[in-house]
Amino acid sequence: MKYYSTADHSNRVALKTAVLEGMPADGGLYIPEKLPKLPDNFFNALPDMDFQTLSFEVANILIGEDVPEAILRNIIAEALSFETPLVDIEDNIKTLELFHGPTLAFKDVGARFMSRLMAYFIQNDDRKLNILVATSGDTGSAVANGFYKIPGINVIVLYPAGKISLIQEKQIATLGENVTALKVNGTFDDCQRLVKAALVDADLQKSQMLSSANSINISRLIPQTFYYFNAFRQLPDFQSKKIAVCVPSGNFGNLTAGLMAKKMGLPVHRFIAATNINHIVPDYLETGIFSPKVSIQTISNAMDVGNPSNFARILDLYGTSWTDIRREIWGVYFSDDQTRAAIADIYENSGYILDPHGAVGYLGLKKYLAQHQELDSGIFFETAHPAKFKDIVEPVIGASVDIPERLAKFLQRETLSQTISGKYGEFKAFLLTNPNFR
Ligand SMILES: *Cc1c(COP(=O)(O)O)cnc(C)c1O
Repeated sequence: MKYYSTADHSNRVALKTAVLEGMPADGGLYIPEKLPKLPDNFFNALPDMDFQTLSFEVANILIGEDVPEAILRNIIAEALSFETPLVDIEDNIKTLELFHGPTLAFKDVGARFMSRLMAYFIQNDDRKLNILVATSGDTGSAVANGFYKIPGINVIVLYPAGKISLIQEKQIATLGENVTALKVNGTFDDCQRLVKAALVDADLQKSQMLSSANSINISRLIPQTFYYFNAFRQLPDFQSKKIAVCVPSGNFGNLTAGLMAKKMGLPVHRFIAATNINHIVPDYLETGIFSPKVSIQTISNAMDVGNPSNFARILDLYGTSWTDIRREIWGVYFSDDQTRAAIADIYENSGYILDPHGAVGYLGLKKYLAQHQELDSGIFFETAHPAKFKDIVEPVIGASVDIPERLAKFLQRETLSQTISGKYGEFKAFLLTNPNFR
């Protein structure tokens, strides 16, 4: 199957190009040219499938022509080696826990799948593939861990000194092996500027193979469709029920994957886009006007996005029709105070500990269900483990949050990062002189 650019539908490329290039040169985003419907017998058999089996079936219909079956099965077995359980919160409200991967956030799913797919595509190339990532925290840790020890690929993660949490720094900078952590004396924007300059630098392109791994890569969205099916599999009689899915959103990759799953036949009655006060998309749903803004910092900081990068994909999937998009997605947003109150309430009522992102998702679902009695039930995504946001959650619930073993072990390791200035010349020299990068 081919992938086209949202900016120019005649710009069509193979999966390999879409994945290794990341973003088309015309400034659009890649989208699969078709989203084939899965057959009835797939949905009938879904309740009896396990996560990996159903993931293979979904992947096969999308990329089966491009990746041999045995390779695809292996990529799925390695990348999705953890569960996404559906957990009861209240009557008719369940959460899909997406934090059982190595860095405790849903981004593990996309990063682990992307790394293995890239490794397959470059296996016959005798050069190393160097992945550059600028991060304000979460993406860098998921990508660093997703690519850790993947043959033929290096990851170079740039993060702003003093501006990410200790846990995030430890998840990025203690791995070693093929993961290089660069602590930049500057801001996140400086990190991003260095990466962008390197990706278009002709000297560098001559001597090494460079790519990026940000959330716009289509190979991150493909595996994110799988867990929507895995959620419905765990709901009795899902084929005859009206079920809403609420996605706490920032760049809207997660929600876009859900829209793709629905186009492939998953019976999601309605999507709810829940955000913090960075409510660019809820405003668009309300008014029809998309008006990007400078982002505002909140306690659900992985959703502090003022210009959601996947919006172009959402528009494209619905032929840019505001009416059709509104029919599919309901938008809502909440303040930090409302988010804290939800964390406290849920803890008091059920003992369940939400992280701030999941709390926004819970609030969105609750509000939608209150206004739509015709729905049978709803699911919201818990996108990160509350231990990642201990500093915010503990004072709110008045109790301590246990740190899972896989997170605790990062905290004991030695930080291996190297410090660089924000000067491009220094970064370029670093890339050019390292023999491992060739
Ligand atoms: C990245 C992230 C989000 C936002 O996901 P998008 O796909 O960018 O909308 C939500 N919650 C957490 C914990 C995240 O890390």
